[in-house]
Amino acid sequence: MKRLGLYYPVTPHVTNRAWGIPDAAYQEFGFTRHNGVDLALSTGQPIHAPFGCRVTKIGNEPNGSGLYVCLLSRRKFRFDDGDTAHVEITFMHLSEVRTTVGTRLSIGDVLARGGDTGRASGSHTHMAPKRVRVNLFGGYREKDKNEANGTFDPEPYWNGILASERYP
Ligand SMILES: [Zn+2]
Repeated sequence: MKRLGLYYPVTPHVTNRAWGIPDAAYQEFGFTRHNGVDLALSTGQPIHAPFGCRVTKIGNEPNGSGLYVCLLSRRKFRFDDGDTAHVEITFMHLSEVRTTVGTRLSIGDVLARGGDTGRASGSHTHMAPKRVRVNLFGGYREKDKNEANGTFDPEPYWNGILASERYP
């Protein structure tokens, strides 16, 4: 099975804040570490699909995630610990969503524009990746339990290619 390789969803690729940093501000949500990576962008900048996926949820939480989109990978991937899983990625703090629930996206397709909605100090998108188990009916649930709300560190899995360059 193919190892997970994520295309960079924002051009250029700049990480403002790494995954897993301890942060007491998340205690009200039930976890203690940064549950994703913060990618730098300016408001209105496009966010591109980092893998082939389906849009599973679009929502808005004014006191937290802001406007957000959830994507579920079409295929399963192999991880460095030997596990295989589908991947769900949520992009948060968006200014605009450019897709709809149920839509299939190819690598590089624009799914949203960045912003600073919800609890955000300045424009960025918080990208939260989770390993998930998909059931026969297409529903799914997270596999990992940890202090970063069930997310994993995407850093080892970037493939070094901008999604916008792969399929402009
Ligand atoms: Zn963040």
